Amino acid sequence: MRPLVAHIDLDALRHNYQLACRCAPESRSLAVIKANAYGHGAVACAQALESQVPAFGVACIEEALALREGGITKPIVLLEGFFDAEELPLVDRHRFWVAVHSAWQVDALLAFSPSQPIPVWLKVDSGMHRLGFELEQAACVWQRLSTAPQVADLHLMSHFATADAGDGTYFTRQMQHLQALAGALEAPLCLANSPATLAWPAAHGDWNRPGIMLYGSDPLEIASDTTRKLRPVMSLRSEIIALRELDEGEPVGYGGRWRAPRRSRIAVVAAGYGDGYDRHAADGTPVLVNGQRCAIAGKVSMDMLTVDVTDIEDAAIGSEVVLWGTASNGAVLPVDEVARYCDTISYTLLTGVLPRVPRRYQAPSV
Ligand SMILES: *Cc1c(COP(=O)(O)O)cnc(C)c1O
Repeated sequence: MRPLVAHIDLDALRHNYQLACRCAPESRSLAVIKANAYGHGAVACAQALESQVPAFGVACIEEALALREGGITKPIVLLEGFFDAEELPLVDRHRFWVAVHSAWQVDALLAFSPSQPIPVWLKVDSGMHRLGFELEQAACVWQRLSTAPQVADLHLMSHFATADAGDGTYFTRQMQHLQALAGALEAPLCLANSPATLAWPAAHGDWNRPGIMLYGSDPLEIASDTTRKLRPVMSLRSEIIALRELDEGEPVGYGGRWRAPRRSRIAVVAAGYGDGYDRHAADGTPVLVNGQRCAIAGKVSMDMLTVDVTDIEDAAIGSEVVLWGTASNGAVLPVDEVARYCDTISYTLLTGVLPRVPRRYQAPSV
């Protein structure tokens, strides 16, 4: 069988979730498991977390229904609400909680008769300028929802544009708008994504919404003592399937982008962009061969990539190759580091691992 496997360490997932909770002991933290739990497998991750979390967050009702089908009974928040009023009977039947970010959603909700009131998170735009009511409209919508029989447990929700940045100027501006609004409404808050959970205690509300940190990626521009305790959940591992010696000056792969600067040994690894490994990976992108760092040499192909193993003496056919995550010898290659070489972020690498790659779950130990 093809050796490429995404190993998913569910103990690490629980560890990272507990770390998020310890950052914000006064808040409840829902686990964001949208986009198939950032590529890790939503049902398996939800099952591993269900005994510890008060709720889950997903992007849409399709994702929420898949969790219910997988046996998940905890509350599930639709972070973008419903996309169509026709979803409301399903929202009601499965007791989903909904974000509401637009006037048409408020109208649809108030025209609906649920079997019991629906928990609603009113989303305001405090500066992200993507979804949410304008700050000036928010109080009025809040009053309307708070007196509606269809609505339970109303919360104010917003999202930060720059919580990951070392410079807190814009974050502080968003926070000031939110505090002014929430103070006037006496509204319970749900604001913090992973970076705000980690770096901005002022943003911790009734609820927080950590996502990427649960999977062990550090979302902060500058690592902190806490982010250094995060453990990678996904380890994308494959093997060397062929080796060859090249003379100095010989090119490798499509377009001959990499040329041997000396006599070199090149390993061919079973992983490529057809698996979701980023084709933008530059020469020099790190990989671990038998737990030792070496680097990609040549363009990534659909099913294969090539690595310079000239200095890895024990590299052989069948040697373990870690594209990110943890090697068998305990060495770690952070997905964040690989992302920098691909001119992207960990989110796209993790969510980009395609269905062709089997996920293998290491069951939680307790
Ligand atoms: C995805 C998402 C989150 C989680 O963000 P991370 O950066 O992964 O922690 C939080 N809130 C909302 C509304 C989201 O869509």
